[in-house]
Amino acid sequence: MTETILLTGVSGFIAKHIALAALLRGHSLRGTLRSPDRAEEVRAALRPHLPDASALDRLSFAVADLERDEGWPEAMVGVTAVIHCASPFPLVQPKDEQALIRPAVEGTLRVLRAAQAAGVTRVILTSSCVAVLNDGKDALQDEDDWCDLAAPGTTAYAKSKTLAEKAAWDFARANGLGLTTINPGLVAGPPLDGHFGSSLGLIERILKGRDPMLPPYGLPVVDVRDVAEMHLRALDRPETAGKRYISAAGSIPLAGIGQLFKAAYPTRRIPTREAPGFLLRLMAPFDPSIRALLPKLGRLERVSNLRAVQEMGMTFIPVSQALKASADWLVTSGRIWA
Ligand code: NAP
Repeated sequence: MTETILLTGVSGFIAKHIALAALLRGHSLRGTLRSPDRAEEVRAALRPHLPDASALDRLSFAVADLERDEGWPEAMVGVTAVIHCASPFPLVQPKDEQALIRPAVEGTLRVLRAAQAAGVTRVILTSSCVAVLNDGKDALQDEDDWCDLAAPGTTAYAKSKTLAEKAAWDFARANGLGLTTINPGLVAGPPLDGHFGSSLGLIERILKGRDPMLPPYGLPVVDVRDVAEMHLRALDRPETAGKRYISAAGSIPLAGIGQLFKAAYPTRRIPTREAPGFLLRLMAPFDPSIRALLPKLGRLERVSNLRAVQEMGMTFIPVSQALKASADWLVTSGRIWA
């Protein structure tokens, strides 16, 4: 069945891939933007990837901000399903964690309330593996796990995603909404255009060789094309309502990412070794991203993708391929080493 989907934050790295996957499936799409000026940029990003450019006739836009009520009721008119992807995704954690938590949580509730008022009963929410990963657990983690908000390593971003997802589940249960969440690990793969905010920030930082060594930490990774596919497969499968789905191909240490890039670009200065803990503790006062990692040093975060494989039939693009696709895009576009 073709749907009329409201996709929030269509200007984002992941959302543009979701928009492409939705248009390729024949759905109609209304994408929300904070500024109407970005509409042509989104169309231009999608156009080269559509076999028939007339598919863009099924794409329209609405202007709405997660922090304001205006625009959401109009955005929902005629919509049959919502994919709520918009949320602040910063590279560096803000001093005031509410700067992330407020738009994430209140924005999610604003979108869900508007959906419910318009009679929409199906919602797919882009959550994150950070809402799953629990620092107190060393075993493989799955959809029954939740981030511990009180743990010292829990960043403002992790809190924003966890609290937003929990608020969505509470709202869905109370109002009979068919909610599915997709919980991606670090999202890699090729962007559709050069407007991808801070989404490839970690990959860019390793490739640029900014750090001589990397923190001993590893995390789950997934290709953006698989993340988009999972949002659409969730929509196709009503039986996924009421469930979370981890989206990850596997896990890799940061030094493993460096080694992968060094093998692909052997003449470049790319870090491949792990930094000792004492050095990172010395650097932490001067580098907020290292500071945020200190409580997690030595961890390789591992998650199970079994539910996505068994219930959605996902076969994930391997981690190395996803990371290499990002690196190749950054290099060939001249974004780095130009
Ligand atoms: P992105 O490129 O920064 O996209 C974020 C989107 O959210 C943008 O369209 C942005 O709009 C919009 N947005 C932010 N604040 C907003 C506000 N106050 N009102 C309206 N829209 C707002 O990041 P992304 O990587 O695609 O992330 C998309 C989603 O995936 C987020 O929910 C993120 O938490 C989740 N996620 C990402 C990753 C990852 O590794 N990238 C991993 C797991 C989960 P503007 O373009 O106007 O800024």
